[in-house]
Amino acid sequence: MGIAVSPEIHPQVAEFIDKPRPMLINGKWVQAASGKTFPTYNPATGEVLAKIAEGDREDIERAVRAASKAFEGPWSRMTASERGRLMWKLADLIDAHNEEFGYLESLDNGKPLTIAKAADVPLASELFRYMAGWATKLEGNTIPLSVPYTPGAQYLAYTLREPVGVVGQIIPWNFPLLMAAWKLGPALATGCTVVLKPAEQTPLSALRLGELICEAGFSDGVVNIVTGYGETAGAALAAHPDVDKVAFTGSTEVGKLIVHAAAGNLKKVTLELGGKSPNVVFKDADLEVAIPGSASAIFFNHGQCCCAGSRLYVEKSIYDQVVEGVAAQAKKIRVGSGLDPKTQMGPLVSTEQLDRVCGYLEAGFAEGAKAVVGGHKAGDRGYFVEPTVLVDTTENMKVVKEEIFGPVVAAMPFSDPEEIIPRANDSTYGLAAAVWTKDIDKAHRMAAQLRAGTVWINCYNIFDAALPFGGYKQSGWGREMGHDVLNNYTQTKAVCARIG
Ligand code: ADP
Repeated sequence: MGIAVSPEIHPQVAEFIDKPRPMLINGKWVQAASGKTFPTYNPATGEVLAKIAEGDREDIERAVRAASKAFEGPWSRMTASERGRLMWKLADLIDAHNEEFGYLESLDNGKPLTIAKAADVPLASELFRYMAGWATKLEGNTIPLSVPYTPGAQYLAYTLREPVGVVGQIIPWNFPLLMAAWKLGPALATGCTVVLKPAEQTPLSALRLGELICEAGFSDGVVNIVTGYGETAGAALAAHPDVDKVAFTGSTEVGKLIVHAAAGNLKKVTLELGGKSPNVVFKDADLEVAIPGSASAIFFNHGQCCCAGSRLYVEKSIYDQVVEGVAAQAKKIRVGSGLDPKTQMGPLVSTEQLDRVCGYLEAGFAEGAKAVVGGHKAGDRGYFVEPTVLVDTTENMKVVKEEIFGPVVAAMPFSDPEEIIPRANDSTYGLAAAVWTKDIDKAHRMAAQLRAGTVWINCYNIFDAALPFGGYKQSGWGREMGHDVLNNYTQTKAVCARIG
């Protein structure tokens, strides 16, 4: 396998990563109060890519102050239509910089440039457009009252939907720009102000997005972007007493820390956490679609998706055929630097992630799993892992129970539809699931019985700004996207007036 890193870098991107990147606080680009910086690495080479301001408690303090002031200031006096127009303008700016964002995502995260340009960037701009439309549609209700202890009195009662206020948003590294959009979109549409903390592994695209936010004309302090580590900047944001809500996407383990940190002022919390999603292929499925679909369910974004189809359940009579088919797909995947246009799978994001995935592979082999394809680190530099299909796996193995967050699928046969439901649901997670079958009754019966926030039928990884996404069980609290997400960023005020 050849791992090429193209020396050709987009000129604006080269300039952007050339100097230490400051943070956005109160509309100004500032260094950390401590003056410290931290490096991000190019996962294709392991070399330092850029230096970033290392925000900490003091910077979070400054950013929360700015967000609180902005919430009281011109932002909350702005009409909903004006907010929507700003968001639409931001979406257009993102599209105008598609190529640049593609490079930043590929360099910082490792994902293929072609995929970042075709998926991550347009999904981000579309999210802002979809949410821009909601800004003018956040309505309350009028409510008829029948108060028994004031006979004869009349009341006019109605509800207002108001923004929750200052929101802390902590995002992961797997879709850096898109996760920023998922978080910022509903917050801005509802009139909240934000302190966003990008993942320390991939802060570049959020910082570039911050420049476009300023260019679009959002007033100072509406969006603040504090870069830094989770245990310092992230923890300070989650615990801050003047933050009204925290929205987090990341590991279930850190999600639990966020809940504890939020307890101090009982801020609202939404969480989008891990998964170990079952992907169920029935013998009556169209295998021409189900096999590549099941491969892409796990290998898309190098398996670094919280909803990755990492448990592949296949009906016994077609088990060998499907496993061979998915393994053949895995073999065909061109692994290499994300900047190489031929690359279909880039490196994992970090050396920690590489160690984690390789650790799981070793644990799987020690417990008796076998790799029909892959199973190892790839290349001699960068954080590459071979796309891997494991067989001889059972439900009690670590590789079946725990989230690997890498390109590793565990395949297991099943005998009948009745058996598969409890096995598919046998997980502490419940983020997503998929079924592949031509029997529509069975498909919808399964959809009703699977304990997951998303069920895909004859497809996988289909996302849309209008479609709510989030977890059952320990996969999270609340939903991202769709109109569901607006509930996370608004609160209802009941107004009751006696009349006459
Ligand atoms: P991963 O383990 O995949 O890197 P994490 O859940 O650790 O995912 O990270 C997701 C986001 O949470 C990142 O922005 C990270 O900096 C942040 N984070 C990590 N630890 C904490 C913490 N203790 N408090 C708040 N945020 C944190």
